[in-house]
Amino acid sequence: MTIARAAVHHRPKSSDAYAYDESTVHLRIRTKRGDVADCTILWGDKYGWEDTKTKTPMTRIGHDERYDYWQVAVEPPYRRLCYVFCLEDAEETLWFTEWGFESGTAAGPDREDGGTVHFFEFPFVNPVDIHDPPAWANDAVFYQIFPERFANANPDLDPEGVEAWGEAPTRNNFFGGDLQGITDNLEYIDDLGVTALYLTPIFESTSNHKYNTTDYYRIDPQFGDEDDLIELVEAAHDRDIRVMLDAVFNHAGRAFEPFQDVIEHGENSEYADWFHVREFPIEFEPIPSYDAFAFEPYMPKLNTENPEVKEYFIEVATHWIEVADIDGWRLDVANEVDHQFWREMRQAVKEVKPDAYILGEIWHDSSAWLRGDQFDSVMNYPFSYAAYDFLATDDIDAETFAEKNTKFQFRYADQANKVLFNLLSSHDTPRMLHRCDGDVDRLRLAFFLQLTSPGTPCIYYGDEIGMTGGNDPDCRRTMIWDDADQNRDLRAFVSELIALRQAEPLLRRGQCRFLHEQCSGDHLVYQRELEGHDDTLTVAINRGDEPLEVAFQSGVPELVFVSDGERDTTGTVPATGGAVWRHVE
Ligand code: CA
Repeated sequence: MTIARAAVHHRPKSSDAYAYDESTVHLRIRTKRGDVADCTILWGDKYGWEDTKTKTPMTRIGHDERYDYWQVAVEPPYRRLCYVFCLEDAEETLWFTEWGFESGTAAGPDREDGGTVHFFEFPFVNPVDIHDPPAWANDAVFYQIFPERFANANPDLDPEGVEAWGEAPTRNNFFGGDLQGITDNLEYIDDLGVTALYLTPIFESTSNHKYNTTDYYRIDPQFGDEDDLIELVEAAHDRDIRVMLDAVFNHAGRAFEPFQDVIEHGENSEYADWFHVREFPIEFEPIPSYDAFAFEPYMPKLNTENPEVKEYFIEVATHWIEVADIDGWRLDVANEVDHQFWREMRQAVKEVKPDAYILGEIWHDSSAWLRGDQFDSVMNYPFSYAAYDFLATDDIDAETFAEKNTKFQFRYADQANKVLFNLLSSHDTPRMLHRCDGDVDRLRLAFFLQLTSPGTPCIYYGDEIGMTGGNDPDCRRTMIWDDADQNRDLRAFVSELIALRQAEPLLRRGQCRFLHEQCSGDHLVYQRELEGHDDTLTVAINRGDEPLEVAFQSGVPELVFVSDGERDTTGTVPATGGAVWRHVE
């Protein structure tokens, strides 16, 4: 059999070839699954080829249903790199080059000097271009709060007609949660072990979710005021907990003053170009005469290409960092805003706080935003959906879970993979327990998966005590504070998992390799490894009803964690359980 040429893919200066840090370049190539026996890379400095040329074997990292994925890290001595791939199977050896498949000798990159194939280039590692998320995001565990529903500490601020805490949420009702409620409960949050908060919007708005902003410079009076935010952030920082806010810059609210002005003065408004009005005067029905979020008339889309709008919103982003010392922004509907706006906002934000975390709300392939010039990370819904399908509905088996996640890993640079925002639930999705049809054991397993996977985990308030709820608005129920109604066992388990993650750098920062040959049906097995560490961790998840015996090559390694708490020396994973072992080289 010859090598399947049509499957081979590599694109320079993409997630196939990127600077990992100032001295390391990662190169990746894709081949047909199970097709190529060996893959090596011939690389060196194009101006000093003879002294630098090196052949390095690539590692097959994993596969999906169609492809094998190979990767290698190289350290070009002069930050310049030219390279070709050498693919081998039993029948043939092929050079894969910038021109395709070539049969020359690949003597070197200079064709005038005896070279016969066309080399790829990574021209120069320029540090400013490296995707470099803040280091703390690698180690963080987030807790997402919907402030209207977390805790009501100050009834004086409540809107009129609040429902009693614990009543059912509707699209329009209010319960009176506020910022003081979060500050007052920081001990609870800290006890859980989380290290960062993500608050959905807190600026003045007419709704309970606050995604239709009236005034970006004012805390919603139902939540408190600027001093309450400053107090919350200070108190969180005292506990080494960071705070990320929600930036809703794709659209404003209908009551946003500039939009009110456009409603009133039409094309003569000085703000006429702040929005995308297709036709004046402004009409709301049957669909708005202006671009909006979806077709929601109360969420007019902002024209972020307009220099005044750009300046206004970038100033909002830096203002709250300067005033309240917040640590990051989650960007709502991030993929519908122009890339140029995000590039300029990133620069401004990083100037005032170099380690601020910038997280985009994107539910799909986010490669175009994760190249170092826009976001540090995105909400990793592809992981969430794979987790639902594997652990909540059993729609996919472990092999498929491993294949999907291997494919996802190859979309982004490794440094991005390490901080992808991994969530099981959010204010926009049914809660995980709801998806699990109320099966708490499956929810526990989902937490185990989330907290032993690469990425930055985020726990949606109340998931840790067994709160449930279907799609919005049901997933936005009020937090349960009565001890008797909280699932304390579940909470202790989540806390234990967070502590495990905090104790194990490999879980927080390590690479993840699925052991495909052991992934089968109900059984998912993966390895976490990290450069500079001589240990590796093996993680096994068993969603089945029977215990799983994990096959180890030479004896059972040290058991680090098992979900039923029975520490023994066997390689057994309990039914609907998970375990972690440590191998030392
Ligand atoms: Ca209140």
